Amino acid sequence: MQFRSTRSLGLKSAGLRSADTATVSFKDAILNCLPANGGLYVPDSVVDMRQYILYMDSATSYPELVATVAPALLQGELNPFSAARVAESAFDFEPQLKQLDDTLSVLTLCNGPTGVFKDYGIAFLAAVMEELLGSTSRAMILSAARGDTGVSIAHAFSRRRGMVPVIIYPSGPVRGLDPNVISIQITGAFDDCQRLIVEAINDRPFAERYGITSGNAINPGRLLPQVFYYFYAFIKLKKILTGELVFSVPSGNFGNLIAGLYAWKMGMPVNGFIAAMNANNAFGDYVKGKEFKPGKLIQTNSPAMDVSVPSNYERLASFYAEAPAVMRHMVYPDAIDDQATLAAMEEAWKSYGILLDPHSAVAFAAARRMSRTAGFNGHVVVLATGHPAKYAELVAQTTGQQVPIPAAFTNLWKRTDPMATISPELDALEGAIASCL
Ligand SMILES: *Cc1c(COP(=O)(O)O)cnc(C)c1O
Repeated sequence: MQFRSTRSLGLKSAGLRSADTATVSFKDAILNCLPANGGLYVPDSVVDMRQYILYMDSATSYPELVATVAPALLQGELNPFSAARVAESAFDFEPQLKQLDDTLSVLTLCNGPTGVFKDYGIAFLAAVMEELLGSTSRAMILSAARGDTGVSIAHAFSRRRGMVPVIIYPSGPVRGLDPNVISIQITGAFDDCQRLIVEAINDRPFAERYGITSGNAINPGRLLPQVFYYFYAFIKLKKILTGELVFSVPSGNFGNLIAGLYAWKMGMPVNGFIAAMNANNAFGDYVKGKEFKPGKLIQTNSPAMDVSVPSNYERLASFYAEAPAVMRHMVYPDAIDDQATLAAMEEAWKSYGILLDPHSAVAFAAARRMSRTAGFNGHVVVLATGHPAKYAELVAQTTGQQVPIPAAFTNLWKRTDPMATISPELDALEGAIASCL
């Protein structure tokens, strides 16, 4: 599978420089992470996966599915033996599909090592990078941290051969760090961390010297493996499906939603995706055909979805540029406020005996709304992206239940000290990286 920049669309015919139209291999895309002409990497073409999705049966385990699908997707870059090794070493956890009734299922994706669905993309990226790098090369994984994502990245990369994870934190407490990672705090905000990473990768001589790439969602190697769990949900459900199939996706930066759209483009039979947002819902207007105007950032009780300008905006826009009308029939935006989120946590417990974190509850509320829509007669799969134990207080308040806290999580919450604290400038970052090695 070749990757191209979101900014390369149609440039070939415009006779632009070859650097602007070039495609790169999966290996180059995950190790360089940012195209030379700006933008983000996206697959240059999609591979038809129907022969796998339609014929795999519901007894297929997650590592088996990954080991089968990944070599077909990566066409020659990952042989079946390598793929099996990657799948086994990445996934000692697997998604769980729980059917609640004829109209509703929950796909649990919050059972990885750090309790967020991002573990699925990160675990695969770390494992496949180790496999493709071979034993002589090294890579530095530069990543901006927010919430538990830094911990997830540190966890996945620190145990891999030849990889040096460097995590960049904004001002504030630093938690749960692995002693095997280089941790740098900047006196600035999360946006500054993201900007610095882009600047460091674009300082090509510096990036080449250390083999720098990123573990953040700008890396297409995190996006691609997220299609695996959509396929997995489909093969578990296909026997019982009689009408439409819709996924309800709790969305912030829209990586998860985009992966679903790729699964559909690869041939998975699905009728649509709910882009379930909290009060930060400017994307809804865009889907309805208006220009994208980022709103003011609003703090909600589903903080991982508090995003004003989605980092995947360029990837989404490239989908819409290709086929706007089709996209409008595939993606249904919905916005759920804090109060409705709490009500959904309560309803999920009272009606189905399940505990949801607030992010998953946003998707649950949107799914209920879809099911009540006149004329809809289908099945909605709610993606449970966050672990309820991380929101034990809200869970107790809405359901009266005490969630047991997995032992691994208490380590995630331990405060740690960064190795260096610097001003939010590229020079300072490059100096700190050199001196921490
Ligand atoms: C990151 C995150 C989201 C949002 O996912 P995107 O791919 O950014 O849309 C939703 N829920 C949880 C728990 C998250 O950590």
